[in-house]
Amino acid sequence: MPAKKKPVTEPAPVKDETKEAAKKAPRKRAVKAAVPETPAPEVSAPAAAVFGEEALPQPRRSVAFIGSECYPFVKTGGLGDVMYALPRALSRQNCDVKVILPRYRCIPQQYQDKMVYRGDFMMDLCSDGRSFFVGIMEYVWDGVVYDFIDNEEFFSWGNPYTDLVEDIPKYCFFSKAALAALNYMDWHPDIVHCHDWQAGLVPVYLRTEFAGTPVANAKSIITIHNLRFQGLFYNERLRYWSGLPDYLFNYDVLLQDHGDANMFKGGLAYADMITTVSNTYASEIQTPFYGEGLDAHLRYHAPKLRGIVNGIDCSIWNSLTDPLLVAPYDAADVTAKKKKNKKALQATLGLNIDEDKFVIGLISRLTDQKGLDLVNAILPELIDGNTQVVVLGTGDPFYEDSFRYYENTYKGSVCANIMYDEGRAHQIYAGADALLVPSLFEPCGLTQLIAMRYGTVPIVRETGGLKDTVEPYNMYTGEGNGFTFDRYEQHLLLDAINRAKTIYFTERDHWDELVVRDMKKDVSWDNAAKQYRALYLELKP
Ligand code: ADP
Repeated sequence: MPAKKKPVTEPAPVKDETKEAAKKAPRKRAVKAAVPETPAPEVSAPAAAVFGEEALPQPRRSVAFIGSECYPFVKTGGLGDVMYALPRALSRQNCDVKVILPRYRCIPQQYQDKMVYRGDFMMDLCSDGRSFFVGIMEYVWDGVVYDFIDNEEFFSWGNPYTDLVEDIPKYCFFSKAALAALNYMDWHPDIVHCHDWQAGLVPVYLRTEFAGTPVANAKSIITIHNLRFQGLFYNERLRYWSGLPDYLFNYDVLLQDHGDANMFKGGLAYADMITTVSNTYASEIQTPFYGEGLDAHLRYHAPKLRGIVNGIDCSIWNSLTDPLLVAPYDAADVTAKKKKNKKALQATLGLNIDEDKFVIGLISRLTDQKGLDLVNAILPELIDGNTQVVVLGTGDPFYEDSFRYYENTYKGSVCANIMYDEGRAHQIYAGADALLVPSLFEPCGLTQLIAMRYGTVPIVRETGGLKDTVEPYNMYTGEGNGFTFDRYEQHLLLDAINRAKTIYFTERDHWDELVVRDMKKDVSWDNAAKQYRALYLELKP
């Protein structure tokens, strides 16, 4: 039995106690001594300055976003995009947002240089009461305050995620330190909005160890961006590192399967509200196929589960102002300019240069989730002399190698960009005619939204957010946004692509109308931000 831990986390550590604790525990200080110990400047959202307080929806709500990645500091997937764009959209909805992130070493130096020291304190964490340094570095940018939790022991690795052996302690520390930092900064939000399993323990800590402290007045929301990743590991490790009391290690809260412990499950149980990133995914995850072992848990908590579809940041994803495109365009001149972007893309990638080829893009993590076994199976059938395929992604070596193989076999028609490259992604969104997203499951998916914004027609499987955002093209009425298929079968994918090619090659005027309609579809964050705001108002502190 681990020793009983001592009480933790006073609202705001009293100076003398902090010094006492610092003497006892080794101090892992990442904040350079040279950094002046001045508090970061307070800012208010620019929306208020621009529109005037009265023009904004009332009342104002304060929200702490807690998550493990955020563009442009660190991004491995869609979560990074959401953590960047949603706070900005919320600030236009009169929300005062603070984003709390780990200060990973891999955050580019240009941002590290702009961070301002906000304070530090010691916090005990483990079940034997080990004490850890928590530094707070702040960066204020465009009306959003970013507070980076600093600790060299946990965040000095190159990448945000390593393996669960390392990641369980790291995100136990982060979840607790985020709440302790809010108390320390004396900033008590109405809502604590947590994202994915890495922040899964936040709602649990909030109602247990932090009960009675100022931050506990907040209501908590946890958003599921991808249920596949849960922070599921040996219960002894989570028990030790979280320092949470034994009574939480039961099958309604933290335990799962054969006595393992699950950080996400605890957060889902303790949060006041659960959201996920589309309505369809909210239903799907209550079934065994999509529920990743938590379907029964989610059915039990279904009354507090909602789906809100993500948006994209239309200032970054703007084909008219995109500096990475050879020929920027909008809906008025997309037909002509897309051809220029297509030819530039073909030239860059060593493909046969021909504006009449049907170019299919695929921008994705190369994992089973993304339906790549289907793509692999049909790729030879796609390459018919009129079609080119451009892949951009990294991931499972099997898929990386198979796309390299196809590039080699179909020189001039297939290009495998096995890399992570934001610039290349922009060029593919602009230069391709269609974008493939045949996912096995897809909580929301951002690539199909970006594609539509760039006049690139999505070809998707009807699952999760893909189903909610891509209306199937109806050849009789001419309505719809893209081409879809339902069952996870390779020939249905091939059929959807062939339907798209038929319209492209034989009814170009209808194709062009579809492209323009996609460009005009509202895929911005405004809609989602309004729904989140309504949720924040529903949850009275
Ligand atoms: P997920 O979060 O499951 O990876 P999403 O569709 O929600 O998938 O988000 C993927 C995001 O990552 C999009 O912004 C997409 O453009 C970007 N992306 C994915 N792979 C790459 C890559 N290899 N290079 C550049 N951007 C990429």
